[in-house]
Amino acid sequence: MKRTFFLIAAMTSLTIGCGHKVELTSGINCDNLDTISATPQDNFYQYACGGWMKAHPLDAEHSRYGAFDFLAEECLKQLNTVMDSVSKTDNNSGSLSDKIATFYSIGMDSARLQEQGALPLMPFLEEIAAVDSRTALMQELITMHKRQNFAMFSMFPESDYDDANQSIAWYYQSGLGMGERDYYLTDKGNNRKLREGYLKLMEQEFALAGYDKLTNTPADRLAMMVMQIETKLAKAQYSKLDNRDPYKTFHKTTLAQAKQQAPGIDWEAYLNAMGIDTTFAFNISQPEYMAAVGELLQHEDLESIKAYLAWNQINSAAAYLSDDFVNANFDFYGRQMSGREQNRPRWKRVTSTVDGAMGEAMGKLYVERYFPASAKKRMETLVDNLKTALGQRINMATWMNDTTKQRAQEKLQTVFVKIGYPEKWRDYSALEIKNDSYYANIVRSNVFDHQYMLSKINRPVDRDEWLMTPQTVNAYYNPTTNEICFPAAILQPPFFDMNADEAANYGAIGVVIGHELTHGFDDQGRQYDKDGNLSDWWTAADAENFKRNAKVLVDAFNAVKVLDDPETYANGELTLGENIADNGGLHVSFLAMQNAMKSHQVNTDKMDGFTPEQRFFLAYALVWASNIRDESILLLTNNDVHALAKNRVNVTLPHITEFIEAWGIKEGDGMYLAPEQRAMLW
Ligand SMILES: [Zn+2]
Repeated sequence: MKRTFFLIAAMTSLTIGCGHKVELTSGINCDNLDTISATPQDNFYQYACGGWMKAHPLDAEHSRYGAFDFLAEECLKQLNTVMDSVSKTDNNSGSLSDKIATFYSIGMDSARLQEQGALPLMPFLEEIAAVDSRTALMQELITMHKRQNFAMFSMFPESDYDDANQSIAWYYQSGLGMGERDYYLTDKGNNRKLREGYLKLMEQEFALAGYDKLTNTPADRLAMMVMQIETKLAKAQYSKLDNRDPYKTFHKTTLAQAKQQAPGIDWEAYLNAMGIDTTFAFNISQPEYMAAVGELLQHEDLESIKAYLAWNQINSAAAYLSDDFVNANFDFYGRQMSGREQNRPRWKRVTSTVDGAMGEAMGKLYVERYFPASAKKRMETLVDNLKTALGQRINMATWMNDTTKQRAQEKLQTVFVKIGYPEKWRDYSALEIKNDSYYANIVRSNVFDHQYMLSKINRPVDRDEWLMTPQTVNAYYNPTTNEICFPAAILQPPFFDMNADEAANYGAIGVVIGHELTHGFDDQGRQYDKDGNLSDWWTAADAENFKRNAKVLVDAFNAVKVLDDPETYANGELTLGENIADNGGLHVSFLAMQNAMKSHQVNTDKMDGFTPEQRFFLAYALVWASNIRDESILLLTNNDVHALAKNRVNVTLPHITEFIEAWGIKEGDGMYLAPEQRAMLW
């Protein structure tokens, strides 16, 4: 599965070719700094981002808002403009523009949504209520999966770790309404309160949907039944940490073996219904979990499982129904779990939904309108420079021997680079969008996506496919194709400023590139070879060195308290891959900048009072400028493999010797870390 960057932010919009030569700016807006209450030596995050944070206080809609979110919101406005303009063109029925326009307008039609209420959901609930046997239960689970409603478990195509060019079916744990097993099993953080809130949500929506009347069972009783099932599922699930381990989650299995391991699941019926050749092996990521699912399917009280399926159905539809559903859904997921006070306005929700359903169709229109070819060219040069620098860093490493270095270089040389947008676009002609109900279109879109997914199973991997749309403000590395990808939307300030001197660009987008490249060599990525196969190319001694060096980062993050009440610490194990990528990204991009300084591609003078080295780190930090509520801190600490924004600056930077030197940081300063305590990896 791909590793992402998850980032950042913007002040100004990209200025495109105005015909005369523009003087490059420093790329640093001094209004973003806080030079009054903080010094770079004691609290770099506050110093570099304090001005931005003060100028962008949280509003009711957000529980976290950073420079990243700012850019993502800008992008959403652009997408909305695109939707609006296609809606106004004279569209032939069934054309791409017509589909976008119809989908958008039906989502925006509030009066009709209120009038339809739970109606669009009813056929699906009746289908579940009618289940009267274990065989019918399995059939219903299959039917729901075809609508991408992955109750109990999910199935999707992913590379075969033994032969990464081949896509096989992967079975994966899923089906918990609160997402993570810990919410059900522990009382840490505010978990107990969240379980109460979740029960209330279920009770409320069961009643709104009328499933209590349909089954003659009180809504609070239905909610309890679901909670019991989900708790059983949670107990059988792997932890997030175990799921980060590619060896623990790769168990290639034949049909005969699967039948033996999890006899409660009718594997044949499932594979046949999905049109998958049963002679191919597949991966069961969490075998013990699938065995437990089989147990439940065969022996759990039938009405309880039906309540669980009905809840999955209701919960996945709630955001696309009338406002009573939407509000109940927001109250739990938005307010209680995330700390947001107010739901996003309808236009934002619908724009995101249509964009999610027709991502590459929107992407094509987006890049035509907003992405300058010149940005792609400059980005290509930057990526080349970053690759060169990582090669130098590998050679310089004192903790690896020549054999491991040689293999690391080979892997680096074969990294496949994607910038801006895909060469070919997905075909949406078979997707039907009709003027019946918003939710019916969601379902058709899910079925369409599911069929697309199935079409990839047991076939060669398509290397040209993009795993993110061009309008996504993010970037990724995918270990099984050994590829890095930078969508068009991230190639804007504050990541990438065409009008700025390169020092700031190396600090921002340069670090993003270095970060993604480093993912190929983080604690997970290093376990895949240059062809994307899971295979060990390390000498035993070098692997030990790597683990010892990585442990420095684990310990550094584990020691950071992120919240006083309830007392919560960062999770150094969960965020290790991302923290290695940040550490490596900074080192590699800094070296690339030094190379560029030698060839005069960077202004070596002070600009706005800062040296190029200082501008590099200011630009890096600004990407992480953000305000956040406590609920969001808890949610992210429990779930996100990325460290919190503040820690990606204040905990990450003291390990970077070039940072210590650029700002003259001394022993006793808040940002100081002794040389022997600094993590040394890439
Ligand atoms: Zn990452």
